[in-house]
Amino acid sequence: MRLTTSLVLATCLLAGLAPAAEAQQPPTRGIVNVTGQLYRAQNNNHYTVFLVTPEGIIMSDPINRDFARWLKAEYATRFKVPVRYVLYTHRDWDHASGGVVFADTAEFVGHRNMLAALAPPAGNPPLTPDAVKMDGNKNGLVERSEATGAIQERFDMFDYNRDGFVSGGEIARGSVSDVYAPTTTYTDRHTVTLGGKRVTMTYLGIAHADDSSVLHFPDERAVFSADVMQIKRLPGGLAPHVGSWIDALSIINSLDFEHALTGHALSGTKKDAADSLRYLEDIAKGVAAGVAAGRGLAEIQKTLTLDAYKGFERWDTIRAAHIEAVYSTMRGSRPATPTGTR
Ligand SMILES: [Zn+2]
Repeated sequence: MRLTTSLVLATCLLAGLAPAAEAQQPPTRGIVNVTGQLYRAQNNNHYTVFLVTPEGIIMSDPINRDFARWLKAEYATRFKVPVRYVLYTHRDWDHASGGVVFADTAEFVGHRNMLAALAPPAGNPPLTPDAVKMDGNKNGLVERSEATGAIQERFDMFDYNRDGFVSGGEIARGSVSDVYAPTTTYTDRHTVTLGGKRVTMTYLGIAHADDSSVLHFPDERAVFSADVMQIKRLPGGLAPHVGSWIDALSIINSLDFEHALTGHALSGTKKDAADSLRYLEDIAKGVAAGVAAGRGLAEIQKTLTLDAYKGFERWDTIRAAHIEAVYSTMRGSRPATPTGTR
């Protein structure tokens, strides 16, 4: 699962979303009120949410250090209360980095599996094929001067022990060195209360990552999920298998909410969240029917068009890969297609 990070980086680069590209122009940032004292904040293609109470702020992902500093200044100007809780959606570097900015006042909560993901690199796995190409002097490590692509861009976030070399173990761990580890972890469900408000975190299982939480704001009738729930947008991938995605979206849809808030792109309503679940069920059923009828992958990809989702972002670009992933799972082989963090 952690190895997928480098594949994801390649995906981000191809999509023109690399941090280097973003750094050349000022980031797009903003804060929009959702309802009551619940807000959604944007940093380029990433979003987080926060709830203001008289006793402080409960927020979700800090996204990165620069954005967290910007957000902290906005909090001070607009609300004049400190951050008391940072509630993580999952451990991926592009959502969870930068929390140290709030460490002076906040408690950090994440699913228990986040700790394993953030643990020091273990063992000595070989360099990935991409990293082998970077390793000009063939010493089995990537020096800063050798690094290209994602490792060059986030060298310090890969270099856990700050020795100036990125090892196979550090690549496998991912660029998570600026993720401030949760100070409180939970297993199934966890509720924080502050200033008369409640936020409940519920574990989503193994879809996308094995440490994902959905945040539920019962008074505001809102949920927040990064990467697992997407609105009018197909998921970046269906790893480890479509069943885990159906389980996760079912958990989200079982909550009482009207506002479906996401870590990327559009937000929506309960109906939109239900549509996202229905897409997963339709693709699972459609592939199963194709396999039962003796059709091969290419034929299923051609005939299972899922037209009901034609208006969804990535319908034209990722549907075939989703069908391949579901097909591979149903045929008992591993999905051949890498999945993204987005
Ligand atoms: Zn994401």
